[in-house]
Parts: sequence; structure tokens; C-alpha cells
Amino acid sequence: MVNIQRGLYDKALVLVPLGVLAAGVLAFAVFILTRQQLTLISTLKVALKRREFSMVYQPIVDLQSGRWLGAEALVRWHRPAGETVPPDIFIKAAEDAGFIQDITAQVMEMVGRDATQFFKRHRDFHIAINLSSADLESPTTISALARLAAQTGAGNGNLLVEATERGFLEAEVVRDTLQQIRSMGIQVAIDDFGTGYSSLSYLEDFELDSLKIDKSFVDTLGKDSATSQVVPHIIEIAKSLKLIMIAEGVETEDQAQYLRDRGVQLAQGWLFARPMSFAALNKRLGA
Ligand code: C2E
Ligand code: CA
Ligand code: CA
Repeated sequence: MVNIQRGLYDKALVLVPLGVLAAGVLAFAVFILTRQQLTLISTLKVALKRREFSMVYQPIVDLQSGRWLGAEALVRWHRPAGETVPPDIFIKAAEDAGFIQDITAQVMEMVGRDATQFFKRHRDFHIAINLSSADLESPTTISALARLAAQTGAGNGNLLVEATERGFLEAEVVRDTLQQIRSMGIQVAIDDFGTGYSSLSYLEDFELDSLKIDKSFVDTLGKDSATSQVVPHIIEIAKSLKLIMIAEGVETEDQAQYLRDRGVQLAQGWLFARPMSFAALNKRLGA
């Protein structure tokens, strides 16, 4: 008995300080991460005031003909000191901190400036804008889109919005917003399809035009991974709902061929073109 107690005591002598040390390290890590996040948020707010953002445009091509049919507008943040912060990081931070709408507003302004009366010359082209959940729940999005449509000279189908499943928490409100967007002649695509945790019931409930097959699934094509069977299922769902499919992140001809063979109409990826300035896009399209 005394021996057992002695053994426990010896172990406690080692484990208790170790536990205290681990808790200390964890608390320090949380402190550092929180501080970094707060710094990011305050720097972002300054960046919004100083208008440090710009746009690039990545072509969306017809998988059969290779023709450029549209482009996705993607935001870039170049800090004055020269470094760039990836949108994955600062968009998420702005969403979490509740001011993504300020970024969306600047994005729409920049696209409007870049593409002033652009569609008067390019009736068959479209430009896609990314919207976050807060955008889909706000009435100001509709007026901002109306302004953008007027400024760019957009007709039916010239503008498209990409909405992620993550934005579908307030399903009722989102459905109304999407309906209004579509009644303005703006198309609606589901972005990052299959990467969220939302129920798929919205697919039948919402009025949609197209579905983007996420890069993470396209990456698995031709590989022997557990998720490589996901793409055929997504294609099946899209076909049964009569949605146009846009494959994202296509990097190899094998991936393009696989998608083409299965009836995927559109694609976007480094195989075809990287994101570029509006001037470069305009030049390639010809005036
Ligand atoms: P996303 O909407 O899924 O956009 C596609 C991302 O994939 C872009 O990354 C694009 O540059 C990248 N990409 C396209 N083809 C390829 C490829 O072949 N290979 C590789 N490795 N990457 C490819 P980006 O520009 O870094 O944007 C990341 C994410 O940030 C976007 O993902 C989107 O969720 C968000 N984002 C970007 N711009 C905006 C914006 O203006 N508003 C909002 N709300 N979100 C934005
Ligand atoms: Ca997108
Ligand atoms: Ca994606």
C-alpha cells in the first residue's frame, strides 16, 4: 500500500509540473494567435480606409472550344511594404469580424471602374463576383449590384454572383436575395460546392444557374484517393438539377479531358489562364 502511494506520488511529481507547463504553453499559443488575429483585423480596417485592394480576373473557358466565356473577379491585398496577404486569410478574418460587406462594397466599386461599359463591347462575356453570407443577408447588396450593372452596361447574364454554401444559414433571407438577384438578369452560381456542411435541400429550394466544382475535388481526379469518387456524384447532382457546371482549379490536360468527357461545360484553372489584370484581359479579348 505504502509502495503504491509512493509510486503515485513519484508520478505526480513529474506529471503535475508537466501538466502545468503544457497548460502554460497552450495559453501562450492562444494569446499569440488571438493577438495576431486582432492585429490582422486592425490592419485590414486601415487597409480599407487606404484602399490597398485591387482586383485580378481569372478567365472561365468553354471546355469544348477553349474560348474564354467569362472571368471571376478575385480581390488582392498588397501591403505598402510590398508583402501580399492571401484572400483566403483576410476574407475569412473580415467575415468573422463582421465587416466583409465593406470589402465587398470596394470590390464592386473596383470592378465597376475596371469594366465601365465593358459589356457594350462584349455581349457574350460574363464577370463573376464572390459574395459572402453577410452580403446575401443584406439589402444593400441588391442596390450595389444594380449600380454595377448600370456602370458596366450589363445585359442579361453578363454579371454572375458566386455564393458559397456557408452563406446559406439564413435560408429564407438568402432565397429572397438570390431571387431578386436573378430577377435583375444576374446569374447565380454555387461556389465551393460540397465543402460545407449544409444540407443539400437548398439546391431544390433556391433558383440557381450553375454549380462550381471545388478545386479540392478536381485535384483528386486520376488519383486513388477516398474523395476521388466525389466528382461523378457532383456531376450527377448538377445534371439532374439542370445546372451548368464550372470546374475550378483545373491544372492538367488529363483533368480537363475527364471533365469534358463527362459533360462539364466550363472550367477555370492554371491550365488555361492565371488570374490577370483587367488591362491584360481586355487586351486578350480585343476591343
Ligand atoms: P474561390 O472563390 O474558390 O476562388 C478560386 C481560387 O482558386 C482563387 O484563389 C484562384 O486564384 C485559385 N485558382 C484557380 N485556378 C487555380 C489552379 O489551377 N491552381 C491553383 N493552385 N489555384 C487556382 P484566390 O484568388 O487566392 O482566392 C481564394 C479565395 O478567397 C476564393 O476562393 C474566395 O473564396 C476568396 N475570395 C477571393 N476574392 C474574393 C472577393 O472578391 N470576395 C470574396 N467574398 N471572397 C473572395
Ligand atoms: Ca469563387
Ligand atoms: Ca473554391
